[in-house]
Amino acid sequence: MHEMSIAESVLGIVEDTARREGFSRVKEVRLEIGRLAAVEVEALRFCFDVVMRGSLAEGACLAIDETPGTAWCFGCGTTVPVQARGDLCPRCGSAQLQVNGGTEMRVKDLLGT
Ligand SMILES: [Zn+2]
Repeated sequence: MHEMSIAESVLGIVEDTARREGFSRVKEVRLEIGRLAAVEVEALRFCFDVVMRGSLAEGACLAIDETPGTAWCFGCGTTVPVQARGDLCPRCGSAQLQVNGGTEMRVKDLLGT
């Protein structure tokens, strides 16, 4: 499962950050996930709990901030909001869009003690 490998890479970042910050426990992990990042949030929550088990982030709360998707429209010559890949331009209806935002996923913040 794709979300399992995402959760594992999140654990790596969490462990590195916790070490750097001197945390012995991590209570909350905040992720930023673009709407176009093709991440199943519910599947990721499940994998997160499984992967964090036995780590210093066991039982940590997973907070997710979704960032909107955007694309460059060749017709309008500007960036427009899109809900999904393959959407048409909401302004002019053009299919000539190039996704330029909302595809990334990163660990935004950690809350530890
Ligand atoms: Zn357009």
